[in-house]
Amino acid sequence: MTLINKNIWMAFYLVSILWGLSLSISSYSTYQRVYDEFVTQQISLTNISKNSLNATFDQYEVLLSIVASQVLKNDKMIEEESIISIMQTATNLHSSVRAFGLFNLDGSTRSTYPVNPETDGRPLLTVSESKASFEKTITANKMVIGRTYFSESLNDIIIPFRLAVRDSMGDTKMILSIAVSVDKGFSFFVNNVIESGFNNTYLYREMDRYFQLAPIDRIHDANVYQQKIPKSKVKITIEELSKTVKTPLAELKESEITFTNETFRGSNTYINASVYIKEYSMWLITEIKLTEIMQAFLYKVKLLVLVHLLSIVLIFFLFRNIASSEKKKVKELKFQANHDYLTQLFNRYYFDQYCEKVNSSSPFTLIYLDIDHFNTINDSYGHAVGDQLLKAIALRVKGIAHPQDLVIRSSSDEFILVCFHKTELQTNEFCKQLLASVNTTYLINDAEILLTASIGVSVYPKDSSNPEDIKRNADLAMNSAKTIRNTTAFFNKTLLNDYLYKCSVERELKNAVKHNELYMLYQPQQLSDGTVVGVEALIRWENKTLGFMSPDQFIPIAESIGAMDTVGEFVIEQTLSDMVSLQQRIGTAFSVSINVSVKQFKKPDFYDILMVLVERYQFPTNLLILEITESVLIDDIDAMQRLMVKIKKQGIRISLDDFGTGYSSLSILHNLSIDELKIDKSFVDHVVDDAETRSMISTMISIAQCKKMKTVVEGVETKEALLTLTELGCDIYQGYYFSKPIDKHQLEFFITNPEGHQVVDQES
Ligand code: C2E
Ligand code: CA
Ligand code: CA
Repeated sequence: MTLINKNIWMAFYLVSILWGLSLSISSYSTYQRVYDEFVTQQISLTNISKNSLNATFDQYEVLLSIVASQVLKNDKMIEEESIISIMQTATNLHSSVRAFGLFNLDGSTRSTYPVNPETDGRPLLTVSESKASFEKTITANKMVIGRTYFSESLNDIIIPFRLAVRDSMGDTKMILSIAVSVDKGFSFFVNNVIESGFNNTYLYREMDRYFQLAPIDRIHDANVYQQKIPKSKVKITIEELSKTVKTPLAELKESEITFTNETFRGSNTYINASVYIKEYSMWLITEIKLTEIMQAFLYKVKLLVLVHLLSIVLIFFLFRNIASSEKKKVKELKFQANHDYLTQLFNRYYFDQYCEKVNSSSPFTLIYLDIDHFNTINDSYGHAVGDQLLKAIALRVKGIAHPQDLVIRSSSDEFILVCFHKTELQTNEFCKQLLASVNTTYLINDAEILLTASIGVSVYPKDSSNPEDIKRNADLAMNSAKTIRNTTAFFNKTLLNDYLYKCSVERELKNAVKHNELYMLYQPQQLSDGTVVGVEALIRWENKTLGFMSPDQFIPIAESIGAMDTVGEFVIEQTLSDMVSLQQRIGTAFSVSINVSVKQFKKPDFYDILMVLVERYQFPTNLLILEITESVLIDDIDAMQRLMVKIKKQGIRISLDDFGTGYSSLSILHNLSIDELKIDKSFVDHVVDDAETRSMISTMISIAQCKKMKTVVEGVETKEALLTLTELGCDIYQGYYFSKPIDKHQLEFFITNPEGHQVVDQES
């Protein structure tokens, strides 16, 4: 039972592990997907940012180009007033453009609108922040973006955009510059970060490593624009990037493709998307925190984990269900193995197991209860009623029994009770109650049924220290009770001795033929004048250990143990052999009566065996008589009749032994062709002094005469008896008065010396 359960739970653990594994795999792939989604989105948002920046820059370049083209007319500067007016219009058009300025090539201011955004109006070439980009603008044929700085005059953080104003020869004449407010001109950049869910975004100049647009949390901090990003940091980041994407830096810059890599700052990991803006030599970098990916992942995986957990809970219940139904099944099987299906009481198997475990420290009383004549109930009411009756009996027995007692149905109508702590007196009282309860009328299917039972009791360990012996003892006691019925018998030593003696008889009897322990005696049958007309063959058994055994004792035992075949065959063979040779030698023919037991006669091969032996010894069938008793005719009378007809066809005669002691009816005698009636010795014993007996014998003789049967009286012991019987008209006489059963030699002497016919005392 535990093994099956163990296996079920093993399977559950295995499924759980597999389930867990599948959860890990799907979680991992979900994480990968979320990560990839984030990165792809980051790249695309970075690209959008880059494009917006480029478009904004282009827009300022266009503005500068337009103004520049108007400032110089035919290579001549237009008037100051017109310049201011153009600047004014342009400034008004772009709210982000805070100021315009036109500078001489030495960096000095030519004209500004509305104020000079540059520091203190100093020549730009003397200001460190603007020197490099200003110089670059002179030679550059495109817009140059200057460093972002705080303009005191504008009170704003601005980015200067500069464009060279060239004449028709292409020579730079002046530098046009606009100051664009970071706040107004790049608010989209800040918004972009917020909308995209970036942690940060910044733009820095590759040339001098200053922020063009600082990370948005510091975008309005003027000081940030004064600090260079350390070279080492930039180097590391860029190298790291090119290493991660396995592409040379030059190629990354040239292709302007957005790449991502992970960086660590403080306790955080960031995913950076970097793209190089070739035109202005700037790096645009966007950042997201890995924890955000983690959060998105957790949000997504939550459902997955939930589904997994739920299914594992479901699987758990499923397995628990299987395990418990398995447990239930095992319990049921165990119950079935130990219980009787009909009465639900314990069965014999359980009882045997119980007996194997008992020890002398736990005494008990074993009570065997057997219903008397139960098979007649089955025969007359049918098995269905029989079953119901057994259930009712079981209920009654169980009702009387103490809760601790074991109640067992050991076989069809046999119940066993194992009771504890009972004295003999208590047991006796208890058994009386049992019998009284069982004896009470049962009402089944409208039929009132009355029963009796017999009880046998044996006590462990008083009667034996071996529980097997206790079972046998109780059985012996029960068999002894059966002889009386409706009573209780306690086991005692005499029962055991009788039983053991019977066992030894059985044992010895099995080998009696083989050991030549059996022999035949013959008792003469005579007419009243002493003429021997026949003999009755009577078996004898002399055993080394048991001594002389009378056939009355051992024939029933031989029948019960199935030894009657060999014994019966011995009788026929020995008798035929003895009598054929005797009759041939003395030249006198006389009939030979052989006793045939009920079981022997009913054996299907009896006739064949008989005829084989008759053939073998060439015994004249007209001299052979088979003595059968009335019990042969109790059941299956038709088959017996057919057999008797077959036997009689061979010329063999049939004699009805012990006539008058059984319950033969006249109709039986009428229907069966019996040749001879043997009037039992019990009648003969009283023939002299009991008139009633005499009239009974007289009736028997009349019946015999009527059916043309011969009468043989056995047990004739006295001359008086002989005389009386002769008067009554008996045909043939057998008894100690003439001769006891004698061996074949004595018989030869007896027959050949008729003048000495006295009582021949062979057996005394
Ligand atoms: P049974 O067939 O009624 O045999 C007659 C019994 O009465 C014999 O006892 C015989 O010895 C006894 N007997 C005869 N005359 C007298 C008498 O004047 N006084 C007294 N007291 N007894 C007399 P036995 O030989 O002990 O046989 C007993 C029974 O055993 C037989 O009763 C028969 O039923 C059975 N039996 C004996 N031999 C055989 C046998 O070979 N085969 C079978 N199947 N049964 C046998
Ligand atoms: Ca007989
Ligand atoms: Ca008899």
